[in-house]
Amino acid sequence: MDNLLRHLPSTHELLQQLHNVEVSHNVKVDACRYALEKARRIIQTTQQIPDLATLLLWTHERLEAQQQPSLRPVINASGVIIHTNLGRAPLSDEAITEMQAVGRYYNNLEYDIALGQRGQRQKHIDDILCELSGAEASLVVNNNAAAVYLVLSALASGHEIIISRGELVEIGGGFRIPDVMLQSGAILVEVGTTNRTHLKDYRSAITERTVAIMRVHTSNFKQIGFVKQVDLADVTALAHQHRLIMIDDLGSGTFIDTSQFGLSHEPMIQESITAGVDVILFSGDKLLGGPQAGIVLGKRELIERMSQHPLMRALRPDKTTLVGLARTLQHYRDGDALQKIPIWQMISMSLETIKARAMHWQSVVGGDVVLSDSTVGGGSLPTDTLPTWALRLSVPQLDDFAARLRQFPHPVIARIQDQAIWFDPRTVFPQQDQDLIAAIQYARGI
Ligand SMILES: *Cc1c(COP(=O)(O)O)cnc(C)c1O
Repeated sequence: MDNLLRHLPSTHELLQQLHNVEVSHNVKVDACRYALEKARRIIQTTQQIPDLATLLLWTHERLEAQQQPSLRPVINASGVIIHTNLGRAPLSDEAITEMQAVGRYYNNLEYDIALGQRGQRQKHIDDILCELSGAEASLVVNNNAAAVYLVLSALASGHEIIISRGELVEIGGGFRIPDVMLQSGAILVEVGTTNRTHLKDYRSAITERTVAIMRVHTSNFKQIGFVKQVDLADVTALAHQHRLIMIDDLGSGTFIDTSQFGLSHEPMIQESITAGVDVILFSGDKLLGGPQAGIVLGKRELIERMSQHPLMRALRPDKTTLVGLARTLQHYRDGDALQKIPIWQMISMSLETIKARAMHWQSVVGGDVVLSDSTVGGGSLPTDTLPTWALRLSVPQLDDFAARLRQFPHPVIARIQDQAIWFDPRTVFPQQDQDLIAAIQYARGI
């Protein structure tokens, strides 16, 4: 074996072959080392010595890969629509166009064009948020975790806030609502039991130190069996009888009723407003289908207190976020959200459309088209699935196959299940079909 390795060129020799490639010396050295390392591994497993052309091919592959940004598009064939690891909600074309323009040029982020003087960042989004939700006022921050933190810091620091034990949620990535609450300086008062909380539990926990009651939507898990949660309108009425602030962390939040797609009913933003909640929080990039943001809606006086809190400066959203969010919201106002916002296109996609796509893939790469399930993801509707048609490929060495799919310039993320690899058309954009097929052929070809 050592004899075989001796047939490989040295890094220096390989480097000389790259003399007219215009990248830095260090990047070239890295590419040569990468190719030689790959060659060594191949020699060890196959006793075959790759020729110089192959080594150079690998070197160039590595150089190309190094030019790519670390954060880049992937093809999501997993069937999980709001995939937190894959960037959550893809944005509408309209949102992207406006984010590009505002990103490329100067803009009126904090400038009042009519008056020719300083303006307000939040003004660009406030009207449409209030119009859609019926809220008095709004505030946008970096994400919903930031919204929770800001709301509690501004309204409940040093005071007691009551929350049901059934709602002390870990939202993912190890982040727990009770930890965020403690950071804010609010004093958490837990009531009820894991499975059941009654109105009287809230009532008997109210003291003169209490400032608020908080409901947290148990987004990413579901309790079944002997379970009781108090109706939002009833807790809100209780809070108001005692002059307390009612806060509702919706998690995802939606303007569209999910039950029309055969899913459970995800709590809607309008419903919290109707229930009389004082402060409502939700994410921009879950079922709203926009960029990462945390949205706070509520009573003007409370929103005002939050917007003047020093933390606001640390949590304020970027210009591209604001314009992308505003354009996403406009889809709801214009009534074209299902057609234009990718996550709603995917949720509402017909089975016939999905099947036709899967059959098209199959006609090129083979495999079986079979009934399967897509999920909404993003910590919403945890037990619900949407029926789908997936392409199922049975291949030897599944993990290697999946790894090769990920090596493509647009890496393909598929699902491994029942000794096969599954591709769900629901979450693959039609314009990615070519790339997906090419990746499958590449993964097959080796
Ligand atoms: C997802 C979620 C959050 C956090 O929202 P991000 O936008 O991810 O910061 C907070 N609360 C609940 C209930 C959630 O589901």
